[in-house]
Amino acid sequence: MYSGIDYSVRNSPVIGKAGLENLGNSCYLNSIVQCISNIPIFRDFLLNNQLFKDIPLVSEQVPSISFRSSSRRQPSPSGSETVQICLSAELSNVVRKVWSNPRQSVSPTSLFAAFRYSFPRFHGFGQQDAQECLRLLLEQIENELSSFFSQGHPTIVQQCFGGSIISEIICAQCQKLSRKEDPFFDISLVVRNVVILKRHSDGYIPRYFSLGDSLNRFCSGERLNSERLYRCQSCDSCDSSTKTMRFGKLPPVLVFHFKRFHWGSSVEKIHSYVSFPIKELDMTPYCDPCVVAGTNAAERLYTLTAVIRHHGKGAGFGHYTAYAKNSALGVWFHFDDSRVTAVSPEQVSWTQAYLLFYSRVDLSNDK
Ligand SMILES: [Zn+2]
Repeated sequence: MYSGIDYSVRNSPVIGKAGLENLGNSCYLNSIVQCISNIPIFRDFLLNNQLFKDIPLVSEQVPSISFRSSSRRQPSPSGSETVQICLSAELSNVVRKVWSNPRQSVSPTSLFAAFRYSFPRFHGFGQQDAQECLRLLLEQIENELSSFFSQGHPTIVQQCFGGSIISEIICAQCQKLSRKEDPFFDISLVVRNVVILKRHSDGYIPRYFSLGDSLNRFCSGERLNSERLYRCQSCDSCDSSTKTMRFGKLPPVLVFHFKRFHWGSSVEKIHSYVSFPIKELDMTPYCDPCVVAGTNAAERLYTLTAVIRHHGKGAGFGHYTAYAKNSALGVWFHFDDSRVTAVSPEQVSWTQAYLLFYSRVDLSNDK
């Protein structure tokens, strides 16, 4: 079952495999932290820099903070209390503990409190959205780090996750092409509950909807109609036009989010399995031709680094866990809060993924 895995690592001290205690539905944040902690360039920045050494953690400023009180009182700053919050320092502190603690689990109390001070809608013990958590965390860290560096210096968030999408719209009236480039830290993709029929010598065989199918839908033409109107700057018409999207700048770490939750009168979840490659995700078909011409093939090739799974029926309840590859060992671990187990790449590949983290092959020291 554990094909390709060194059994010995399962019982010996392994740095980077400490679990994170669940503080009452903190699994969304725990899963995000374990994924970020296993992205080598981001982790090494958090481990090695000295930027945060004099910044006090929330736990140092509010020593009585606890998420374990029997009254389940929510830690929050009182009116007279001023708490200095730096999520970069908090995340750095947790990742340092994970990468220096070979056995036990680590308590992310201070980070969890800081995150909820920063984003009060994450208060309460209800289920939260891991993708929203990731986006808020990265944006906040980006803002904090921008104040440390001179303007124009890309932060580690930009250096890791900062990519761009080029969208093109062709006017249906005058055929004028308009081109626009927008930055991203992650890409949201549609998933479909369908079985694809693949042509085969004996007829058609069914296969699963794949990440490639999602990316094709993301890139392929979207008809702009009366609901999503586009006014052509050349001929001023508002006729229906077609919008296509391609990747402009490919970041070292690509994060894909599958839109599994549909927010209508009730929240519905798409449970279907979506297949995705563990190795060799080639982004060439989804790139703008200028990018393809200006890069070599290795710069468009990615390998899977981490996965977040949502377990449960809906958005309002359930549980998040993470799979991440320990770059030092070349071993995949499943992080279920404080419980950490080694798993095979095959087990990872059959996960009902919610978020996928891919690293550029030429930049990862993949084992
Ligand atoms: Zn036009």
